[in-house]
Amino acid sequence: MTGERPTSMRTGLCGRLGVDDVGTRVALCGWVARRREHGEHLAFLDLRDHSGLVQCVVDGAVEVRGEDVVRIEGEVRRRPDGTVNPKLATGEVELHDCRVEILARAETPPLPIEERNESDEALRLRYRYIDLRRPRMQRNLRLRAVINSALRRAMERNGFCEVETPLLWAPTPEGAREFAVPSRLHHGSFYVLPQSPQLAKQLLMVAGFDRYYQIARCMRDEDPRADRQYEFTQLDLEASFVTQDDVLGFVGEAVADASEAVTGARPAEIGRITWADALDRYGTDKPDLRFGMELVELSSVFASTSVRAFAAPVVKAIVLEGGGSLGRGRIDALVDRAKELGAAGLAWFRVEGGEGATALDSPLAGHLSPEERDGLLAATGAAEGDLVLAVAGDDHHLVCRVLGTLRVQLGGQSVADGPHRYVWVVDFPMFEGLDESGTPVPAHHPFTMPHRDDLERLETDPMSVRAQAYDLVLNGWELGSGSVRIHRADIQQRVFGALGIAPDEAQGRFGFLLDAFRYGAPPHAGFAIGLDRMVAIFAGEESIREVIAFPKTQSGADPLTGAPKPLADGVLRELGLAPPPKRT
Ligand code: ASP
Repeated sequence: MTGERPTSMRTGLCGRLGVDDVGTRVALCGWVARRREHGEHLAFLDLRDHSGLVQCVVDGAVEVRGEDVVRIEGEVRRRPDGTVNPKLATGEVELHDCRVEILARAETPPLPIEERNESDEALRLRYRYIDLRRPRMQRNLRLRAVINSALRRAMERNGFCEVETPLLWAPTPEGAREFAVPSRLHHGSFYVLPQSPQLAKQLLMVAGFDRYYQIARCMRDEDPRADRQYEFTQLDLEASFVTQDDVLGFVGEAVADASEAVTGARPAEIGRITWADALDRYGTDKPDLRFGMELVELSSVFASTSVRAFAAPVVKAIVLEGGGSLGRGRIDALVDRAKELGAAGLAWFRVEGGEGATALDSPLAGHLSPEERDGLLAATGAAEGDLVLAVAGDDHHLVCRVLGTLRVQLGGQSVADGPHRYVWVVDFPMFEGLDESGTPVPAHHPFTMPHRDDLERLETDPMSVRAQAYDLVLNGWELGSGSVRIHRADIQQRVFGALGIAPDEAQGRFGFLLDAFRYGAPPHAGFAIGLDRMVAIFAGEESIREVIAFPKTQSGADPLTGAPKPLADGVLRELGLAPPPKRT
């Protein structure tokens, strides 16, 4: 028998038994997955532990029920001819001559323990300890452990030192809403649960740790959804005396190790795309490279058009292969979707075979000049049976994003599908746009180093400044992000200036980091990978809740413990959150 080391209670695991064990006496422990009567005197029990099931032939008088916890001693034998179960890993053998010891009784479980479970999620979470007995959940959480372990080993191989950072902390600059923890000893003051160990890991660089990592829990008080929970886990890392290329190398290696540990195959070297290219070609900074359908430039085709819908500086399109068969209802829904996303409209063209020539079917077809019609077909490469969807506008980002969203809606695949296609998105812009007062809005935290070549334009043309910031994207999901940090006070002052953060405000918010930087800060850079998302993709799960042991519901509640819960008045008073009782 292969598997775990025997314990005083058992010789091995249920799911590992095979023909090699025939003739040996074993002791197994687990839960009764199923009981079937076989005549008057015999019963078949399926015994389950985390490794799988094995069939045990027991005395029919033994009183055990589903989910009772038992220890069974018996002899392994081949199943009689005709009773082999090829669907079960242990299906060639069974235990006979069994002695059954009941270790604990179980009530009827409120959920079926099956691979697929259609039960209401709130019920699954209320009884999560039963839900987690299901093979699928066992697989998901064990897969998570395999990924964690591979990442740790890769980090350690490259000299990264694991350091734990505080959970009771001060506000961090990631920009999400934070959870606050009231202080009992300092009424009216609060700790903040970290959105990430960002500032702590930068302090560790000043402290000379050189390379730090941590599988870190992070907390953000943002509404939960399929790919977001209040609490999430990151592989967080930071290194000194490195450039962007070095960080991409470390992270790429760790991710490749984790992929290989799970799938057995090492992914190809991760390619790079600039943020500007990603937007241009895929309409998003999280491109899903499992399929083509790239955005096509049509601005030059319609440069001097008389078609009102296309008289705009930016005209782009996507082609849905075979989409010509889409009915008007579906096309109208796409038009509505594009408008919802902010486009003025969505032009569509069904490509049809005419008398010896390709024809376009569209409300706009009659308005296009022959050159525009030919130009559209040539640029898009659309062929008979395809559907071309075009958006025009003044705002390049908006046009790209609308088509990028339609691209994923029409061509996208589920997380469980297809190969794992990683890509680095590099050269993010430093700023996202301007706020109402005309101040640039940062795209990253304020310690992100501007691109060396763009630094001189920080004050004169901030929107053209790129950041030394990078994301790792897998199958259209942002897996992680990081940046080279600012370690020089003069550049930091200029960035704060560009962001409209006054020196005293900076000192108030991040004074402890700025102080530390006065005592010798090495150049440093880092990254964080979202582990919940990564595991979900490898597990083929749409929701990260399926790869977290005890997640919260979409409304942030925990049906298992009943959290969040009111606190007793006495506790509130102790925390300074309720007035003292009135004297009578
Ligand atoms: N702290 C960043 C985050 O949590 C990652 C990084 O820049 O290292 O997204």
